[in-house]
Amino acid sequence: MNADEFRRAAGEVADFIVDYLKGVKDRPVLPSVEPGYLHKLLPANAPQQPEAWQDIMTDVQDKILPGMTHWQHPHFHAYFPTGSSYPSMLGEFLSAGLGCISFSWIASPAVTELETVMVAWLGRMMGLPKELLPYTEGGTGGGVIQSSSSECILVGMLAARTKTIATLKKSHPDVDDCILVSKLVAYYSEEAHSAVEKAARICLVKTRVLSTDDKFSLRGETLREAVEKDIARGMVPFFACATLGTVGSTAVDDIDGIGRVCAEKDLWFHVDGAYGGNALICPEYRYLLNGFQYLSSFNSNPAKWMRMGADGTVMWVRDKKLLISALSTNRIYYLDDEEERDRLDYKNWSIPLGRRFRSLKLWFVIRMHGVEGLQSAIRSHVALAKMFESWVRADDRFEVVGTVEFGLVCFRLKGENTLTEVLLQQINESGKAHMVPASLKGKYVIRFTPANWYYSEEITKKTWDIITGFAQVVLHESRGDRQGLQVRESVDSGEVLGREEGVPENS
Ligand SMILES: *Cc1c(COP(=O)(O)O)cnc(C)c1O
Repeated sequence: MNADEFRRAAGEVADFIVDYLKGVKDRPVLPSVEPGYLHKLLPANAPQQPEAWQDIMTDVQDKILPGMTHWQHPHFHAYFPTGSSYPSMLGEFLSAGLGCISFSWIASPAVTELETVMVAWLGRMMGLPKELLPYTEGGTGGGVIQSSSSECILVGMLAARTKTIATLKKSHPDVDDCILVSKLVAYYSEEAHSAVEKAARICLVKTRVLSTDDKFSLRGETLREAVEKDIARGMVPFFACATLGTVGSTAVDDIDGIGRVCAEKDLWFHVDGAYGGNALICPEYRYLLNGFQYLSSFNSNPAKWMRMGADGTVMWVRDKKLLISALSTNRIYYLDDEEERDRLDYKNWSIPLGRRFRSLKLWFVIRMHGVEGLQSAIRSHVALAKMFESWVRADDRFEVVGTVEFGLVCFRLKGENTLTEVLLQQINESGKAHMVPASLKGKYVIRFTPANWYYSEEITKKTWDIITGFAQVVLHESRGDRQGLQVRESVDSGEVLGREEGVPENS
């Protein structure tokens, strides 16, 4: 491909993206392909000779798109949002164009420094305690963009493990690290993300999975009890993770209570705010910062709820030296000798050596939406969730489970779990909307979230019509009456789904 061909192709890709987003509402949200479908469609071997760009794009249309789950479909309501937007796409594109990776400062000073500035911007947008932020006079805190929240949790735990082992070594200099590690215990709730369990497995530490209260949030007292029991047994509690917005129901743990216990018992305190943390950019959510004075580390994923495309999660730490001491490695060819420590070498803050220029898209997103634009995007999701919640509450057949704190509503048909299971299965199989379930203390719920940015009251209403249409079928069928069939026919023929949604122009 030469430069002129590239110019042309790049324009075509931009057209493709715009057309895709405009037309995505007409595709089924979930594909109907079988596992292995693509293997059958593509040649077994890579081409020996160069192929034409047009042929490749034809394959994208014919072979890739039919196998896509369309996250930007108006009726995609699964998981959490992914923050696609035009400024973010431009940032990704430019990052690819600059074609660099950075690990040490000198490997590309602008890459390192823009990352540090963005971490500071975002931290201030969220009102985080200044001890966690870079450029704080006399401060020890700092931040980094990791690839994922899972990675933030893992490196937080690694830093905690390194710190605790170093402390134990002082009183037990002759005991092998492996023996010391076998005493360490990490704590998190039954509603915490599986990434915490994964981190503990990688770190080879013991875990206590603590139960939550009736609002699905972990209480400080529950942690205290577990920690004291372990200390009495001769174990060493070293790490606790609280969640600000759980995946199951966006519950918020008792950050203040948990923080107090961590401070008192000298545990590393990580808060996972992958989704919910983004809401801190709206001042009305700042009450959630209560207890942040105890934090050792925090992660929030702008690629979830801040219009930035995947990937990228921002992590702040109270003491960057603790993170670096867990992860730093020095080799002469990386030009990062001791005296140069003050210059940031982000390879010492994360697991990979080479790092993409991720801060560019965050910079574009923040500048082109403005803080107010990003706040209003979050607020509109919350408003739609609240509206959806009011419809569920007004319908006797349904119940809302948990609290609608952010942009997620967990709901179910009253009665046996199987009713809701069948309802969700039918909705997903229809390709008209896509949602995923959660299990909250044994109750099977459907999670509804306005998961992308092409939403409106009308789209949300239409989703509710789809849900209630199928609910009618499920309830009739569960009673075994024939009416169920007729209702199904009218749902399938689209009678209850008649509205047209708008086409996104701005993104
Ligand atoms: C999405 C999510 C994660 C995992 O995020 P990745 O970036 O995909 O690793 C962890 N915790 C919570 C609360 C999440 O919502």
